[in-house]
Amino acid sequence: MFNLILFGPPGSGKGTQSENVVKTYRLQHISTGDLLRDEVTRHTPLGVEAKKYMDQGLLVPDEVVIGMISSKIDELPDARGFIFDGFPRTKAQAEALDKLLEFKNTSINLVLSLEVPEQQLIDRLVGRGATSGRSDDNAEVITKRIKEYHTKTAAVASHYAEQGKLERVKGDNSIEDTFRLLAKQIDKYLLPA
Ligand code: ADP
Repeated sequence: MFNLILFGPPGSGKGTQSENVVKTYRLQHISTGDLLRDEVTRHTPLGVEAKKYMDQGLLVPDEVVIGMISSKIDELPDARGFIFDGFPRTKAQAEALDKLLEFKNTSINLVLSLEVPEQQLIDRLVGRGATSGRSDDNAEVITKRIKEYHTKTAAVASHYAEQGKLERVKGDNSIEDTFRLLAKQIDKYLLPA
């Protein structure tokens, strides 16, 4: 199995690049943002709880997200590998993920961190807000999401840097150029399927 984390602040292009990675390498995509939005749309108890945090730009509590990921991994026993997008977002989530994978006799192989200057992140997210229909893509909530990233999520990079698994990739060029840089790193572990 090959397991990849695509890491980076809100607006860094994780969703877009995940699609490219999934197509090229046939990994199973697990996006906590997408899973949570799906719960919100279906008005499940988890979705109702999660929405309170999401609409404020705050992280959803770890235990909620970890439980969701654990069931998702169990639903996909035949995966060639996973690409985690938007997860883990706290050190506790990273530690929980390491344990979940260890239990399955596998582990994270690589963490690719998309690096984009802050002003460009804000411009992209405000731009996306015009068409995404996402209630959290407005200036006030965007600022909060970026703040949550710095206070809670940036620590995830150090967690995997200590394990020697972190690679930083420049994410402010075109979608195609950025994908080429990501693919160059993934190719060291796994050939396109
Ligand atoms: P973005 O990275 O563009 O902010 P996401 O779709 O990944 O968007 O996440 C949207 C919101 O969903 C986050 O602001 C947060 O409230 C919630 N969320 C997503 N993933 C997680 C996670 N791993 N832990 C806690 N909350 C999360």
